[in-house]
Amino acid sequence: MNLSWHIEQYLPQQLLWLVSNVSGQATKLGQTVYLVGGVVRDLLLGYPSFDLDLVVEGDAVKLAQQMAEITQAKLLTHPRFGTAKFSYSNFNLDMATARGETYAQPGALPVVTPGTLKDDLSRRDFSINAMAISLTSNDYGELVDPYQGKNDLEHRLIRILHPRSFIDDATRILRAVRYEQRLGFELEPQTAQLLKRDITMLNTISGDRIRHELELIFRENQPEFVIKRLAELGVLRRISPFLIGDGWIAEKFEKARQLKKPNQLPSLYFCLLTYSFSESKIEQFLNYLNIPAKLSRAMRDTLSLKIRLSQLNKPSMKPSEIYYLLQEYEPLAIQANAIASESSMVHHHLQLFLTKLRYVRTYLNGEELKRLGISAGSEMGKVLQALHKAKLDGEVNTKADEEKIAFSLKLSNFHIAPKS
Ligand code: ATP
Ligand code: MG
Repeated sequence: MNLSWHIEQYLPQQLLWLVSNVSGQATKLGQTVYLVGGVVRDLLLGYPSFDLDLVVEGDAVKLAQQMAEITQAKLLTHPRFGTAKFSYSNFNLDMATARGETYAQPGALPVVTPGTLKDDLSRRDFSINAMAISLTSNDYGELVDPYQGKNDLEHRLIRILHPRSFIDDATRILRAVRYEQRLGFELEPQTAQLLKRDITMLNTISGDRIRHELELIFRENQPEFVIKRLAELGVLRRISPFLIGDGWIAEKFEKARQLKKPNQLPSLYFCLLTYSFSESKIEQFLNYLNIPAKLSRAMRDTLSLKIRLSQLNKPSMKPSEIYYLLQEYEPLAIQANAIASESSMVHHHLQLFLTKLRYVRTYLNGEELKRLGISAGSEMGKVLQALHKAKLDGEVNTKADEEKIAFSLKLSNFHIAPKS
């Protein structure tokens, strides 16, 4: 089957230009080069691609260097691994010398040896990701499909390439479910059976790699489907017995997206994913997955705030009361609780803090107070706090109002001080 039409049709213009350059250069150098992996899958499905993976039978670094000269693209090479990375405007192009892999033991990183395209495809995760398209001029556009990936695409199936696949690399368990849910496919029956058999192999994978897979899941459009399915298959409780992937997660993830803050979304998902944990249980999870410090703080804070939410469930709270209760918590933890809470009053108070109270500043600063005759040190601290509280509670509106309060506090201080 020839896919030249698909390439023309679905690749953005700039990528198309890069591809035809690679093709020309490879032919000149007598090397064979292929598009591989996700881009082939997505071209066959008629989805656009923005990142390209290329495999070179020959020397990827040499070809990449030639390409960089012609295109003036940014190039990063790893000659030891035979790989090169191109960045050209918003696009990334990864080039790798074809290689084979063997696994010394389950979950270990593979031992890599130079190989042919067939070797390279045989080390891949699923048949739909193990296809290639030739870019060499004599057979440009020809599909290479040794594992019937195209047939599996047509039947909407996720299929591993051999029965030991999940044992070799158990991250594929998480990848399988991610693709299944993203594409609306199904696990091919034998793959599903082997996945269940090999769930315990997740123990052979480092926490860092599991976290990375969760991060990839959280970049999907609707990660709740993946989480739900992982729960159904018994995968989630292998990662932690306290993780729950029920309808609650789906509802809250959806709400998180409605905030339209894509940058904070993955972290917010993490906070919501562990919302059912107790404070003592979260530490083990954070350690195991080696969660970065800032996100760890937010996830811990989420749970310590959760058990104080009832204090926010009071009508007629003063804004300053809300502020003092929440000021110590990571904003992300407050956001997670605003999404998680079922009480509209609590929700309202948390949102008030996030959108308004945390930004409230007094008009007067230390320098200005000094000019009004207030001495630095504890007196100044008290005045500033009183001004801030008054501002939070709407008792002052102008700079003049604040000056009045500052003066009255100064005077009351003189009255308290014993006269000599
Ligand atoms: P996506 O659209 O999610 O980026 P992709 O197919 O491009 O999909 P990548 O994670 O970018 O996926 O990996 C590129 C290719 O590398 C995959 O298509 C697959 O062939 C291979 N691959 C990635 N991870 C594994 C793995 N754990 N085991 C085997 N092959 C893998
Ligand atoms: Mg990719």
